Amino acid sequence: MKKYLLFDLDGTLWDASIPIVQCWNDVFRRKGADKQLSLDDMHRLMGKTLPEIASALFPGWPDAARQNLIQECCEAELVPLKRQGGTLYPLVEETLRTLDAKLDRHDETSTVSALNRDGTVEDAELAQLTDIAQTIGALSGGAFDPTVAPVMDAWDFTGDAPRVPSDEELSALLAHVGLEKLSVDGNTIALSDGAQLDLGGIAKGYAGDAVRTVLAEFGVTSAVIDLGGDVGLLGAKPDGSDWRVAVKDPADPSKFLGVLTAADTFVVTSGIYERGFEENGVRYHHIIDPKTGKPAESGLVSVTVVCGDGAWADALSTACFVLGEAGSLALRDTLAAEKNLRIELILVTDDGHVRYTAGLAERFEPSEEGTYVYEAIIA
Ligand code: ADP
Ligand code: MG
Repeated sequence: MKKYLLFDLDGTLWDASIPIVQCWNDVFRRKGADKQLSLDDMHRLMGKTLPEIASALFPGWPDAARQNLIQECCEAELVPLKRQGGTLYPLVEETLRTLDAKLDRHDETSTVSALNRDGTVEDAELAQLTDIAQTIGALSGGAFDPTVAPVMDAWDFTGDAPRVPSDEELSALLAHVGLEKLSVDGNTIALSDGAQLDLGGIAKGYAGDAVRTVLAEFGVTSAVIDLGGDVGLLGAKPDGSDWRVAVKDPADPSKFLGVLTAADTFVVTSGIYERGFEENGVRYHHIIDPKTGKPAESGLVSVTVVCGDGAWADALSTACFVLGEAGSLALRDTLAAEKNLRIELILVTDDGHVRYTAGLAERFEPSEEGTYVYEAIIA
């Protein structure tokens, strides 16, 4: 028998069981929205993106209000879903918790913290992931660098008091940054020159891989794993058709650039809207160019990577963001030639262009309301 478990996919409605319909109707009632859905209605909405659903159900409403309402429905439906998921859901949560406890450098008890404190640590899984991070670092010419931690800390993007460090401070910190200060030998990882390991650019994608593996081991053949900006797709939809993944508009994350049709892969986006702060009218985002220690200014405002492996997809989205358009396409060629790894890209430039690689020509459907110029890259 085919088993499947479906997680909420950002922007896409994926399930249409009776408890889910009830959940939506409860939210409508609670919010005084004059609408109740039947199971048939729900089936008709399947496969549409969140904004499409919102405008189909509440045509007269303002965009933000109707999307908030549908968002709330999506959150409410997770409750019966967890119940339906039975023993699997706790297992997925446990997988994520275990990884977090190992990889989070802000958690003093994590393995990465032990490494950053002691300069060396032994852990097979961490060594393997660090090795991937290092490989991607080298392939990207240092655009991806898992030793940017001291620079990240100086900016304090996620803290209470984010600030712009001085050039002197940054150049002093950059003396402790560099791939050559990180080494992996068997299961042992070591740092030199006061370097610190930060797997923030790869950990979420790796967690996606881990969850996908757990689900597959339990015979799940169809699932969406949404870890916020990183979407893992296991198989296709239960009816055999491809998933639809909405790609956010970096200028307004409540809107979409377009919809990607895909199965059995990862879709990971790095964009400037994710995290950051503003000072004196300048916006500072959290993807650092390791050469300057400052937020990357590569002409790109968002990069979406489609790649079969979650960890690679995640790190590559960060690397491409730093590299810019030409560098990203060159890296894509290098990966195909040296690693036999095929990736597809959606690049959004700061002058309003959306360029996507040839492999997505049939799979990426630009949004009609978009203000961008869409172009397929013939390569
Ligand atoms: P998101 O947090 O939006 O998923 P990314 O996947 O692009 O973002 O990763 C950003 C994180 O990666 C940062 O919070 C930081 O920990 C780390 N990071 C920032 N710049 C780099 C870089 N050039 N190379 C490697 N890691 C980076
Ligand atoms: Mg990333």
